[in-house]
Amino acid sequence: MTEPKSVAVIGAGIFGLSLAIALRDKNYEVTVFDRSQYDANGYDPASDDVQAASADHNKIFRASYGKEIHYQRLAFESRKAWVAEDEKRGFSERSNEGDDQRIFVNSGMLRIQPSDHLATLEKETLANMERDGLRDTQFVKSDPADCQRADKLGWKEKILDFRIPDSPGKIYEAVLDSTAGFVRCSNACVHYQRVATDKGVKFYFGPEGAVDSLIKVMSSLEPGKEKVTGLRTTNGIVHDADVVVIAAGSFSTQILPELTYHLESSAGSLATFKIDRGNTALWEKYSPERFPVMTWKSVARDSSGKDTGSIYVLPRTPEGFVKIGYRGIKWTNFQPAPQDTPFTQDGKWSVPLPVEKCSVLPEPAVYSIKQFVSIFLPEFDGIPFFSTKLCWYTDSLDNSFVIDHVPTYAENSVFVCTGGSGHGAKFLPVLGQHAADILEKGDQSSSFMREFWRWRPDAPRRNGLEEGPGGPRDISQSKI
Ligand SMILES: Cc1cc2nc3c(=O)[nH]c(=O)nc-3n(C[C@H](O)[C@H](O)[C@H](O)COP(=O)(O)OP(=O)(O)OC[C@H]3O[C@@H](n4cnc5c(N)ncnc54)[C@H](O)[C@@H]3O)c2cc1C
Repeated sequence: MTEPKSVAVIGAGIFGLSLAIALRDKNYEVTVFDRSQYDANGYDPASDDVQAASADHNKIFRASYGKEIHYQRLAFESRKAWVAEDEKRGFSERSNEGDDQRIFVNSGMLRIQPSDHLATLEKETLANMERDGLRDTQFVKSDPADCQRADKLGWKEKILDFRIPDSPGKIYEAVLDSTAGFVRCSNACVHYQRVATDKGVKFYFGPEGAVDSLIKVMSSLEPGKEKVTGLRTTNGIVHDADVVVIAAGSFSTQILPELTYHLESSAGSLATFKIDRGNTALWEKYSPERFPVMTWKSVARDSSGKDTGSIYVLPRTPEGFVKIGYRGIKWTNFQPAPQDTPFTQDGKWSVPLPVEKCSVLPEPAVYSIKQFVSIFLPEFDGIPFFSTKLCWYTDSLDNSFVIDHVPTYAENSVFVCTGGSGHGAKFLPVLGQHAADILEKGDQSSSFMREFWRWRPDAPRRNGLEEGPGGPRDISQSKI
């Protein structure tokens, strides 16, 4: 019998956890390293040592993906798995009595259009839902048959009316997606971290898990190429591994600079209000039972297909937080890159700001959030935010994830599993299974995501990555 292969995963966010579990299921020896003390802080987004997209109260679950039907299918595969996981924990999709501890909450999602008619992206999404036999799960506000069906199924209350400012008598067109909702992201990480531990995955957290560098030697099997044999943590300890996985989200480029062509760190803007439990009217109104996730594009996509006005709100959390996210402008933070970084723009790369600089939002984000609040959350109009935060995306050059071996390293010793691009959280229960199959079989993988996630050095840098320092999203150019 051959020894099981050992894999060291850097990052215990959604990507790292998901892959660690799937590899353990295939009998790999898996060790996960994370510099955050998650075993003590429970993935609490407010904790001082937490800087991870995955550590958050909630993230949207949606399967509406415009023309990208592969992500639509992956989302439905994941939805099934979320529901099954909640059922294992004793919570059914529809039960919300008492202390609601579901990880996946099917609150529905209202896709509010920029005007009183359907935008192009929406038409594409509806066409794809139709193609996959799912059109009856979508309810178009202006369609009487849809509204009747929504009424019968108990969804009508969530097809909300919002007046268009300065357009007397006009209301926003909207589509309610009854398959969508949100995942309680930090709770999901806590749960899956426990699942991983129970299966035998080993974790190093805090200073013991903070990775300083990869250990590289010349390969004897592939002359001229380096091979990675493990990693060194900041306390100086070396951990050997047959394969090292980079799953460090927006910090991945700093661990593996070869990723800089493929990825860019950028910040989304988050703001919360807090509802006091004693305010029964608001507590009820914004509960997941009454209030859907809402997304809005303040303007339609521009001629190049880019969204610039995207903003969303989630139903209140059990603690009373109503979170609004603005992703119309994802802010870049360009800093001088180390000298031998393989790809830079004017010698710079965009990396996350230090955590202590992430609590103030740039003015355009504040303006857009306030505009959104005044139209869609009238009770909070003029109320100061409870909290504000910049939360870091790991954007890839085409918005698809990057999950593959890194060909510049010998003997398949380095694997990357990142590039969540603002939509990875919903896939936690299944992402790792696809990634593990790719890690094991490369081009022979049967995952239908293989083509989309491969290492793609020849793909043009789009998705905003082409803008570089001084571009329209550069945070140093924006008023705070
Ligand atoms: C503002 C925002 C909104 C989003 N909204 C949604 C949404 O609505 N729906 C959705 O599906 N997805 C959403 N996403 C995307 C989703 O959150 C991400 O795709 C996902 O969380 C990425 O997980 P990750 O594991 O790749 O990275 P992360 O969660 O960032 O985890 C990386 C981990 O690596 C660790 N790390 C970093 N450097 C080191 C080091 N040197 N040594 C050890 N550990 C290290 C960090 O501590 C961290 O725990 C959103 C993302 C953002 C930023």
